[in-house]
Amino acid sequence: MAKRDYYEVLGVPKNASDDDIKKAYRKLAMKHHPDRNQGDEAKKAEEKFKEAKEAYEILSDAQKRAAYDQFGHAGIDPSMGGGRGAEGFGGFAEAFGDIFGDIFGGGGRRGGGGQQVYRGADLSYAMEITLEEASGGKDAQIRIPSWDSCETCKGSGAKPGTSAKTCPSCNGSGAVHLRQGFFSIQQTCPHCRGSGKIIPEPCTSCNGAGRIKRQKTLEVKVPPGINEGMRIRSAGNGEPGTNGGPAGDLYIEIRVKPHEIFERDGDDLHCSVPIGLTTAALGGSVEVPTLAGNKVEIDLPEGTQHGKTFRLRGKGIKGIRSSYPGDLYCHVTVETPVKLTEHQRKLLKDLDESFRKGGDKHSPNAKSWTDRVKDLFK
Ligand SMILES: [Zn+2]
Ligand SMILES: [Zn+2]
Repeated sequence: MAKRDYYEVLGVPKNASDDDIKKAYRKLAMKHHPDRNQGDEAKKAEEKFKEAKEAYEILSDAQKRAAYDQFGHAGIDPSMGGGRGAEGFGGFAEAFGDIFGDIFGGGGRRGGGGQQVYRGADLSYAMEITLEEASGGKDAQIRIPSWDSCETCKGSGAKPGTSAKTCPSCNGSGAVHLRQGFFSIQQTCPHCRGSGKIIPEPCTSCNGAGRIKRQKTLEVKVPPGINEGMRIRSAGNGEPGTNGGPAGDLYIEIRVKPHEIFERDGDDLHCSVPIGLTTAALGGSVEVPTLAGNKVEIDLPEGTQHGKTFRLRGKGIKGIRSSYPGDLYCHVTVETPVKLTEHQRKLLKDLDESFRKGGDKHSPNAKSWTDRVKDLFK
């Protein structure tokens, strides 16, 4: 597939300033955020996001931008050389880590003490709800991990009376430089993991982490109309950042339990309504429940066939982004009577005899089926 022009992707002119490029990218990143795009849209949004990210990576780098301006995509094919290919791109969490790093300040930024600052990891939580709750919304409380600063070491991670020392591998900078061919690559120091410090005697309460994992209760508003697989983002409730970096986010992923009666398809609901043989033939009425807990009566005309569907307008679910609720489809299933008494068997035999005398006019489907089979063997 032909690559789109990077300026076109970001929607900026060729002479756009660095600031304009940054703004355009931030806007696109927000637009294609996973929270705003669900289901089929999510895949498309991710593609768009990758495209924008790649364009931004090139145009925000003066050297790469110059090469691109002169030679086009051939000048800086990201799959060649040192650049990161679009395929090597991880999930949204990684991407957003990058955005927060690049734009909002976070990953990779230098803290006051010359230490590497990282945004905390995102967490995900699966929440199971009923179909009724998915339709009507719910105020839920969930228990999630939270972290407190360690009281024993006051968050330093060092055993009381001792202190952290400057990392000898990176001299406290948190980064080391590796030479690879013509390039010098800066990497997070593997010895101190970017903190710039090592703790010779770790605090025994927190094993040197400086914080202790606990649990807290979080109030979650599940909006009405939510569907299976959708995610609710709770900003800042992920893991804490490192060296004063911002916390990650918590994503609550919705799972809807199967319902006894209803099946959901988008905003519509489906249910099957079993009726007896005689009701189907003579007509009658049948009560069907709605998800809201009401009952609706359906009038069945004489000669109702198996598989007949009745639509109850507006008795489905009003989706999160829908203006109107969907419909409830009631699918009639005609039940064949079982465990007949002698008397009932006799009545049915008499009935059968009577039907045979009437020819095939009593069975419209069987008649057209027999005709089609005859045509097939002509
Ligand atoms: Zn401690
Ligand atoms: Zn180090």
